[in-house]
Amino acid sequence: MWQKAPAVEIVTRFAPSPNGPLHLGHAFAAIVAHDRAREAGGRFLLRIEDIDGPRSRPELADTFRRDLEWLGLEWEEVPAQSTRLESYEAATARLRAEGLVYPCTCTRREIAAAATCEGPEGPVYPGTCKRGAPDPERPAALRLDLEKALEATGNLGWVDEIAGEQGADPRAGGDPVVVRKDLPASYHLAATLDDAVDGVTVVTRGADLFEATHVHRLLQALLGLPVPRWHHHRLLLDEKGRKLAKRRGSPALSDRREAGEDGLMLARQLRLQHLPSGT
Ligand code: GLU
Ligand code: ZN
Repeated sequence: MWQKAPAVEIVTRFAPSPNGPLHLGHAFAAIVAHDRAREAGGRFLLRIEDIDGPRSRPELADTFRRDLEWLGLEWEEVPAQSTRLESYEAATARLRAEGLVYPCTCTRREIAAAATCEGPEGPVYPGTCKRGAPDPERPAALRLDLEKALEATGNLGWVDEIAGEQGADPRAGGDPVVVRKDLPASYHLAATLDDAVDGVTVVTRGADLFEATHVHRLLQALLGLPVPRWHHHRLLLDEKGRKLAKRRGSPALSDRREAGEDGLMLARQLRLQHLPSGT
């Protein structure tokens, strides 16, 4: 008998890291995520990505909330990453049990010296520690063995609401780090698990993270997680065509707020930059 498939609730999130103040680019990202959910009668979540230990400044989370309020956004806040370390450890144990990860003691400098090509995140890791036995005395990260992982999953695909259907090819960056030397997860592992636990159905984020999604799709397959859709939006650029950044003088939202600027007006202007052509 024909049955109408239940409509998937739209759940999006804004996931800032409290490593520095939010600027215009973050405001844009938050608005895109917020509006994508609201237009569909869905839910918009805020998740503070605060596991980047020494760089993380927890007091900024409160500033972020006030910035979002100032922009006229409403959200549901889900637990910060620092409260979820057990879930990262459990996932890592599973990958380890399946023989899909290996320790890597290489430093950035060693990788740069050994690499023969550049990937989306810099020099591509050439697999040094997969072939040799890494020194057990040195701190180790864990990397995913892409060859084995892709053998286990076969071909994978994912859908971007703007760019359309994509074949997942996570190889461009080399074997990705899933556990950092100093943290129980990498960005890839933490974000993938959190989005699944939070029930995110449309992952909205900047186009600078498009390549990372190939890795996230693979992790979802390996860990048996639900597969969302993605919405990689354009990045706001400065007048020289560069990505906005605090260090290049993009003012903090909190400074603009404290200077008495109208946040609702700013939000309206930003919405005009998110054109129906998708991007
Ligand atoms: N915490 C990440 C950032 O601030 C979020 C990336 C994502 O949305 O997946 O860049
Ligand atoms: Zn290594």
